[in-house]
Amino acid sequence: MAEKRDYYEVLGVSHNADETELKKAYRKLAKQYHPDMNPNNKEAEAKFKEINEAYAVLSDPQKRQQYDRFGHSGLNGTGFEGFSGFGGFDFGFEDIFDTFFGGSPFGRSTRRRSGPQRGSDLKYTLEISFTEAAFGATKEINISRMQLCHVCGGSGAKPGTTPETCKHCNGSGQIRHVQSTPFGQMVNMRTCDVCRGEGTVITDPCGECRGNGRVQKTSRISIKIPAGIDNGQTISLRGEGEPGMRGGPPGDLYVNIRVKPHPIFTRDGFNVICEIPITFTQAALGAELEIPTLEGTMKYNIPEGTQTGTVFRLKNKGIKHLRSNAKGDQFIKVTVEVPTKLSAKQKELLKQFAEISGDEVFQQRKTFFKKMKDLFQ
Ligand SMILES: [Zn+2]
Ligand SMILES: [Zn+2]
Repeated sequence: MAEKRDYYEVLGVSHNADETELKKAYRKLAKQYHPDMNPNNKEAEAKFKEINEAYAVLSDPQKRQQYDRFGHSGLNGTGFEGFSGFGGFDFGFEDIFDTFFGGSPFGRSTRRRSGPQRGSDLKYTLEISFTEAAFGATKEINISRMQLCHVCGGSGAKPGTTPETCKHCNGSGQIRHVQSTPFGQMVNMRTCDVCRGEGTVITDPCGECRGNGRVQKTSRISIKIPAGIDNGQTISLRGEGEPGMRGGPPGDLYVNIRVKPHPIFTRDGFNVICEIPITFTQAALGAELEIPTLEGTMKYNIPEGTQTGTVFRLKNKGIKHLRSNAKGDQFIKVTVEVPTKLSAKQKELLKQFAEISGDEVFQQRKTFFKKMKDLFQ
């Protein structure tokens, strides 16, 4: 750990500085290095802590005396050795601002609870079919969400009545509490627990929403699913979340798309892949296959001597791109199926085939065994 700097040096004051001088120096430096003025600046943060530590000690006559006589070591056991942050204190940076600078000028919106507040975002998971994802669709969903009460229009007060100013906090929504601390007097602010920060209380609540101003309701929403959407993608519907509070904007609705697997197609980006089993006679002799595409079946000729695992490409038979009219391709992968149950007659014919074929018919096999022979000789 670095050597601690002299507290007077930290505050830039002389050893004879009086209370007013200390306070003035502290205010100036605290404002300069305040985290709100220096976002994400670790150096300023460290400096700010150092300034606060120095002021906490020097502004306390007893601690100042100890510090003057014994230096930093004189403070051992007083809670100021290894002082870091504000763990032991009942106030934060913003309270310091309230005390010395009359409120933070940097507007932390969380502080004022009575201002407009944006409504909550909602998430919905929607399952669609493979073809709906490929071609797009319009889906209706039911969502249960808070809505402004139609009886009181969101005020929470019975129609014909208005919410009254909270007497507990005089409508500010906050309670000020003055406290003595090592920094001097501190003003702690907390949310008024009578009006919960609203500044107003409803004396005659609306019967429909029981004063909440909002009611839970199920709404039917129509969602346009664009052609080409894929599993895991999200459609956002602006303003379809929950309503805002006190005139704040509504939240958004995020619809997460789950695409159900297709019985024969799989997808890779905008390409569609389909595996088709063929017989070994089709593979050997070539054949006209009937193959599935997204738009129906079509005829496709595979050549003589097609190997298992061969992939054929059908251009533009895939899925439309989300933001253009381009289309992916379809890939047909053929696999040769070896029969597992053969009749005596079928076996006999195959044996005859084998006898008249020999090695010349199976080129890959021939090459492989030649390599193997070379290897072990
Ligand atoms: Zn109401
Ligand atoms: Zn109040």
